[in-house]
Amino acid sequence: MTRDISKLVAEMTLAEKASLTAGADLWSTAAVERLGIPSVFVTDGPNGARGPSLPEFVGGEGESPKAVCVPCGSALGATWDPELVGRVGALLGDEARTKACRVLLAPTVNLHRSPLWGRNFEGYSEDPLLTGVVAAAFIRGAQSQGVATTVKHFAGNESETERMTADSVIDERTLRELYLVPFEMAVRDGGALGVMTGYNRLNGSWGADNEWLLKSVLRDEWGFDGFVISDWYAFGDTASAASAGMDLAMPGPDRWYGSFLQAEVERGEVDESLVDATVTRLLTVLDRVGALDDPPGQVPGSIERPEHRALAREAATAATVLLVNDGVLPLDVGGLRTLAVIGPNAADTAIMGGGSAQLSAHRATSVLDAFTERFGDRVEILHERGVDTTRHLPAIAEGLVTRAGEPGWELELIDGPDLAGEVIERKHRDDTELWFFGPPSPALGATFSIRALGTFTPSVSGAWQVSLSHAGRARLLLDGDVVLDGLSREVPPGPTFLGQGSDEPIVTVEFEAGRKVELVVEFANVSGRMLSGVKVGARPAPPTDLIERAVAAAARADAVVVVVGTNKEWEAEGHDRETMNLPGGQDELIERVLEVHPDAVVVVNAGAPVAMPWTDRARAVVFGWFGGQEMGDAVVDVLVGDAEPAGRLPMTFPVLLEHNPSYGNFPAENGETVYGEGLLMGYRWYDTRSINTMFPFGSGGSYTQFEIGEPALSSRTFVPGSGLTVEAPVTNIGDRRGCEVVQCYVAPIAPRLMRPFKELKAFAKIWLDPGETATVTLDLDDRSFAYWDPGDPDALADPAIDTWMTASRPPTGLPPTPGWVIDPGRYELHIGRSSARANIVHVIEIEIWSEV
Ligand code: BGC
Repeated sequence: MTRDISKLVAEMTLAEKASLTAGADLWSTAAVERLGIPSVFVTDGPNGARGPSLPEFVGGEGESPKAVCVPCGSALGATWDPELVGRVGALLGDEARTKACRVLLAPTVNLHRSPLWGRNFEGYSEDPLLTGVVAAAFIRGAQSQGVATTVKHFAGNESETERMTADSVIDERTLRELYLVPFEMAVRDGGALGVMTGYNRLNGSWGADNEWLLKSVLRDEWGFDGFVISDWYAFGDTASAASAGMDLAMPGPDRWYGSFLQAEVERGEVDESLVDATVTRLLTVLDRVGALDDPPGQVPGSIERPEHRALAREAATAATVLLVNDGVLPLDVGGLRTLAVIGPNAADTAIMGGGSAQLSAHRATSVLDAFTERFGDRVEILHERGVDTTRHLPAIAEGLVTRAGEPGWELELIDGPDLAGEVIERKHRDDTELWFFGPPSPALGATFSIRALGTFTPSVSGAWQVSLSHAGRARLLLDGDVVLDGLSREVPPGPTFLGQGSDEPIVTVEFEAGRKVELVVEFANVSGRMLSGVKVGARPAPPTDLIERAVAAAARADAVVVVVGTNKEWEAEGHDRETMNLPGGQDELIERVLEVHPDAVVVVNAGAPVAMPWTDRARAVVFGWFGGQEMGDAVVDVLVGDAEPAGRLPMTFPVLLEHNPSYGNFPAENGETVYGEGLLMGYRWYDTRSINTMFPFGSGGSYTQFEIGEPALSSRTFVPGSGLTVEAPVTNIGDRRGCEVVQCYVAPIAPRLMRPFKELKAFAKIWLDPGETATVTLDLDDRSFAYWDPGDPDALADPAIDTWMTASRPPTGLPPTPGWVIDPGRYELHIGRSSARANIVHVIEIEIWSEV
């Protein structure tokens, strides 16, 4: 720390202070040059530091510098390895600095309440403890590099549907025991310097102005002394946000904070001391990370470091989960003549999910390339994609030419929503995907229209698929004919434009190679919406015999690897998935391949659970997540046995979507997302209700085998405040090095209030050589046994009436008041290798005494 912040704040005018509470633009804070306070860049995010630029898909804003892409959040959760995730956090902190940023907009710690949440890939797990441990490690790592993290999205932001407005209705006990825990751990154990609020409302209040959440819980109870930042374009009430302690509304220019806050102070609605407090918190954090000493004019860079590559690959293998292995893996490639690498994700391996986490990666290794590079000189490698899973057609860039003959598209900008009137300005774009955050020119009002003009010369003759999607209204004309019309009529809403756009209707058009087609789009932002845009997609229609070709390749090969999955079009911020099914008929592809090659290895490349109706027939199934830029090599490392499949599932894979606890309460309806399952979320639900799962939470195989020996306890009794240690010997009884994740669940025997059957309270990952034994230590404390008692606000006031009904009361006989409670009595510790009862190896009973 170098600056005297209170002195600095005392020197500032109200206008200067207020200016710091809103961003200067999309990715930077405001500067106060008079006092030497620089503008500071912020960057997303969870799987890489993109830098102060929009994700690539937004287009038209210039290339963002390339960055390292590490495995996605659910993959990091699957490592169950805080030490490793700490190193990944440090890598991203370092990357943020390379990008000239001092704030990293990560980690995402919302829980996997539904398998369908569009951002599951960003979050770590369905379990609050696993999420909290991993998040705290990530934060410590990232912040060791002189950046502040912003743990997000606070709180109850577990779905994308109606995401800017929905109200998450969550009872306090569920919040305290599940959804707030990772934030609490991020603050208390990780020392997070920032917290990002959610778009959603929580029990009626916006995340950005929720006084209970931001003041009572975050600051007063948890002692958070960092800064609170709003999510991008999230709404809050100015005066309420100031009194709740919201510090920085992003992005700029200000919409409801900043100068609006100044006006509220001038009107006497907000006390200036609240603005002082806000600015003090923000500047204190910026000073702590060293940002106030940064020289002005820093330029985001891009450095590809070999050690970053190595760590990204290590993390990807550490996350890979072996779901099924009936003696097929590891593959003995040495003995093969022909290997078929089949499936839509074989060549197009999805390394990251979609939305603000997207970045332009230094490199992306596909599973097909990795096999070819390593074995292509010895083994004949066949590839067929088998099915087509494209959800959104690619924008047109190649063959697109303006009327002046330059590559690209010419835009005529017109004020007002009806494409009438003079052209105010002309702009150039490289391709047919246009995103606008506000009007694209200061000369335009909030409602504006655009005519995009050019010609397209196809390179291939035949049937082409052409699509149009828009946030706003638009129509597409080819050679003067309207082929898709969303201008004169409403198109249903869809997943485009971060869930704020239309559906993407597709038409089939015959094109002739080399023959120019006039390509015109008329677009109107009729309502003055903040995010607007239009995209024309096109590609030659895919062949109709993809499956047959793939089955033929599989039949001819000695070994088969089928890489299936989703990608950033299916799993993305802005929309939830509609189903757990693999898109594009991939189940049929797998079934047909397994018919001709029963030993085919299935690799699933997705960020969240998918349905796997073929698991009973598959002899080897591996889950590889969105494994980051080194994913292709990491998958091959695991498949050929160069690396251990070291991951374990951080969430439950249900047999059917209908079995999952949020079913019926997901997604939002009429503006409300009701967390009706309460505490029974994730494995707590399946376990308490004895519902079979496809793969339980915590499960995953190894290439070796382990024995978890009889655990030794520091005591068979636990007195609150004292701590309890479980030490379990683990032996590698197989013939190769590998790792085991020992999990300790606590099950209260006769709880006073309803509790889940058992809950994860400690875990340890251990690596052992063949024959080696070592001890894992699992530490339990008060919170391992406590539950949140919401109290009994309706308790009868008269103690005389009350005494005869104290049976359901705590031992004091007093009506309960809200707070953490540890009931004395008997508990079981369940120690094993997953949440499934069949995988619990030891059950040990202990007793809790209220006092010694
Ligand atoms: C996301 C945040 C992200 C922000 C900036 C929002 O849409 O919800 O997670 O950090 O954009 O890109």
